[in-house]
Amino acid sequence: QAIAEQNACYQPAIMSDGHRIEVVANIGNVEEANAAVVAGGEGVGLLRTEFQFLQRDTEPSEDEQYEAIAAMIKAMNGLPMIIRTLDIGGDKDVPYLATPEEMNPFLGVRGIRLCLLRDDIFRTQLRAIFRASAHGPIRIMYPMISSMDELRVAKTITEEVRQEVGADPVEIGMMIEIPSAVMMAEDFAREVDFFSIGTNDLTQYALAMDRMHPQLAKMADGLNPAVLRLIRKTVEAADAAGIWVGACGGIAGDPLGAQILSGLGVHELSVSIPAIASVKAKIRRLSMAEAKAFAQRALACTEASEVRALK
Ligand code: PEP
Ligand code: MG
Repeated sequence: QAIAEQNACYQPAIMSDGHRIEVVANIGNVEEANAAVVAGGEGVGLLRTEFQFLQRDTEPSEDEQYEAIAAMIKAMNGLPMIIRTLDIGGDKDVPYLATPEEMNPFLGVRGIRLCLLRDDIFRTQLRAIFRASAHGPIRIMYPMISSMDELRVAKTITEEVRQEVGADPVEIGMMIEIPSAVMMAEDFAREVDFFSIGTNDLTQYALAMDRMHPQLAKMADGLNPAVLRLIRKTVEAADAAGIWVGACGGIAGDPLGAQILSGLGVHELSVSIPAIASVKAKIRRLSMAEAKAFAQRALACTEASEVRALK
């Protein structure tokens, strides 16, 4: 029995009525790539590439980035990996990029905005990613997309770099973490291969509550019905366009959050490594019919506390 439980983390998460939810990992380095495989992750749903840029005095070179990404892809041993392009700014300040001081860094030059302002950094990273793509299956996604223009320019640059490198095409996705992207999700869904909902930022921007704020962070709960309704709208838009949706914020790794997200039609949950086994176990105990019914009750609530009290 103990061995069966140990091995359960390596089995897919299939609900009692046959629906499968992919459970993948959030990682930042090669040690975590190895740990994700050992923990039963079915791939990586979010590689936070910004860790390659932090705690150093100069920008990492293309070769350094290539080596780091290639090592992680190899560690995944054929399992798919979603590589998020640089999401720096906000709380993650990088002195050598000499970005001007900002009054509201979370509303400032962050994520894709920095990459489009400094497209030299973006192109170098994309070159490293496309070179590394020879080592295993990857997808690319952009953080902090708030407008169609940003997405189109990012895609154009990505395609230019891909052709320069001579790499095969890969699926391109975007994070849904800004309310404007949710409101435009039908349009965005026609332009990308997948969505990944960043519930940490989506919550922060929907509730106008700083996710790092000592007094507010606890109230910035991703299970707030306002956030759940944004997620529902995102999934509806994706379904209409025939693309798939993942989620990679903190609530994906919370058993209650995993249940609600599955019931809302999210196909892939990208969670912290320690949460992989418990999220898979939670999914297996449910049917999709139950998860959908529960998600409907959560959507009808008016406060996160009510959602958390649902039985
Ligand atoms: C998110 O915003 O939910 C997310 C997964 O991205 P990060 O936490 O890296 O901002
Ligand atoms: Mg985010």
